[in-house]
Amino acid sequence: MLSHLRAFQPHHGRHVRQALKPAVLVSFATTARRNLLTLAIETSCDDTSVAVLEKYDSPHNNEHGPAAALHFHEKVTANSSVHKGIHPIVALESHQSELGPLVQKAILSLQNWKPDFISVTRGPGMRSNLSVGLDTAKGLSAAWRIPIVGVHHMQAHALTPRLMSALESSSATTNAPSPGFPFLSLLVSGGHSMLVNSVSLTHHTTLATTHDISLGDCLDKAARAILPASLLSPPYGRALEHFAFPAGESDYHYSAPKNREQELQRRKTPYGWALGPPLAETKGGRSSKKMAYSFSGLLSGVVRTLQFARDPHTGSLVKEPRAAEPELLERREMAREIMRVAFEHLASRVTLYLSSLSDQDAASINTLVVSGGVASNLFLRHVLRKFLDIRGFGHVQLRVPPVEFCTDNAVMIAWAGMEMFEAGYASDLFIRPLKTWSMDFTEGDTGILGVDGWTERKAYKKPEV
Ligand code: AMP
Ligand code: ZN
Repeated sequence: MLSHLRAFQPHHGRHVRQALKPAVLVSFATTARRNLLTLAIETSCDDTSVAVLEKYDSPHNNEHGPAAALHFHEKVTANSSVHKGIHPIVALESHQSELGPLVQKAILSLQNWKPDFISVTRGPGMRSNLSVGLDTAKGLSAAWRIPIVGVHHMQAHALTPRLMSALESSSATTNAPSPGFPFLSLLVSGGHSMLVNSVSLTHHTTLATTHDISLGDCLDKAARAILPASLLSPPYGRALEHFAFPAGESDYHYSAPKNREQELQRRKTPYGWALGPPLAETKGGRSSKKMAYSFSGLLSGVVRTLQFARDPHTGSLVKEPRAAEPELLERREMAREIMRVAFEHLASRVTLYLSSLSDQDAASINTLVVSGGVASNLFLRHVLRKFLDIRGFGHVQLRVPPVEFCTDNAVMIAWAGMEMFEAGYASDLFIRPLKTWSMDFTEGDTGILGVDGWTERKAYKKPEV
């Protein structure tokens, strides 16, 4: 037992230090006025991240400058390469050793300014990992005597394009965050694959979610099965994309299916196999319109195709190993096909939903946010755009945050905390981490506001200094 524990003692070879300093960082020296200021902490999975974000008040906005400034952002990712996936103990020990120094650096960056409140991820996520961030946040809140906001991690992903609009300079007449509500979000990461309808800041409904593994997990495992070992490095989803399309967009040659019938057809490859779209048929054999995602069947189709031989007459798999390892070109075809089929599956639930609305309601939704680690995949953006266009939803804009804001980060937690705080919400110091926390208020159990610990505040007014 002791030797097992010792195997996971944190030492620096076990952590990937990714001190990300986005170009958007603004020094305190350049902003004379203090407005709403938050220090934010994210520790829900394997990224330890701390940020300091400031949001200006309305008079500043009237000058058409950015509505927010990022003063500090760093993150350290636990090194999962030893385990080929996220290892809970390695991630926990990384948070335990890395969070203190990051908070210290963030506080030094504040110079003598004191934040107005602390933002921290409360859930959903690994409970012990969340605790590291939440307990540190409570300590800061108690010491500084300032409120704390326990943030929903997925709400923060969905709001990220609004954060981006606030950080960017704007010449528009209004600096209201964009997109405005309602909008749809595809949240696709290592832990989640969901389509969400965001009606307001706290009012979201889950339109489709995965019933088995996440898209990120599917692509990671597919990469490990498909890629030659020499090309395999984390994040595996990105390695899969680069392997599939070494020349980038000029390798795509993609045309979206014109209708659902075409979408459900298997595309036979020159190698004799075809990957079937998930949830294609109901038990009765009709086209399934189930609002759900599923990626495990697609993954096992890939793994079996790589492993087993094929009957030359029927084309179906037989229970014998392949005579020879698949060649590189066949592996590349497989990498392309699994992404195409998985991404069309994502898109199909967006168009199924939009087609179910009245013309007026469909016209009111003109934004699809795509966020989470998988959103950094450029082929995904290409497929979604082509798919929406050919199905008559060309008016729906794709909003994809830059990569460092697509993956887990404390800046999005700071922004979600900011929006909640300004709307009058804070949390009490009794709050505990939440392993599961539904974002969907119609699920009966929770929704963002359905958990304990919210203290409704009056609209915040900063004391005059
Ligand atoms: P997150 O859980 O949001 O940190 O996202 C991590 C997931 O995103 C992992 O499954 C990664 O393999 C995946 N990912 C990162 N970059 C890409 C990419 N370019 N294409 C596909 N998946 C990616
Ligand atoms: Zn996430």
